[in-house]
Amino acid sequence: MPKKRIAVDMDEVIARVVPKFLDIFEEQNNYRPTDTELHGKKVYHLPGGENIRKKLHDPGFFADLPVMPHSQEVLRNLHEHYEIYIVTAAQEFRNALPDKHDWLQKHFPFIHWKNYVFCGDKSIILADYLIDDHVFNLETFQGKGLLFSASHNLDENRFTRVNDWLEIQTFFNQQIDTH
Ligand SMILES: [Mg+2]
Repeated sequence: MPKKRIAVDMDEVIARVVPKFLDIFEEQNNYRPTDTELHGKKVYHLPGGENIRKKLHDPGFFADLPVMPHSQEVLRNLHEHYEIYIVTAAQEFRNALPDKHDWLQKHFPFIHWKNYVFCGDKSIILADYLIDDHVFNLETFQGKGLLFSASHNLDENRFTRVNDWLEIQTFFNQQIDTH
């Protein structure tokens, strides 16, 4: 039986962008927003954060992002049982393409480059599962969507929520058990 496919988003799922946004926000505004201020929002939606999104166009912005905790070990495990595809909307920020490629080679060397999908609109993606922090990607996905918790999606309740990679491991353990 062919392995089932899991499509995995990058930003805010395996790569942490928010700490970098918060550093830039703090540099520009001399204070760091609280979790309460961020609830339901992105950093660049806060007053004083309007310029931050422009930084995504800078070469190197995506090169040094921290890895989401436990994503490496859990994906390494899932890789045994599933086909893993990294699916990232990378075209809006063209300088992100080489950074993202190199970042994946460095932190997820067990995922083959043939399994990188650097796309625009993710509604083209056909897989069994999609793990993503953006509701609009899950809305058009035809398989089972898992919503990875992020400040901007905390009030959303239409999708199965996963708060971290250990919960993702638990979710897929249950899928394997029921095969
Ligand atoms: Mg994302």
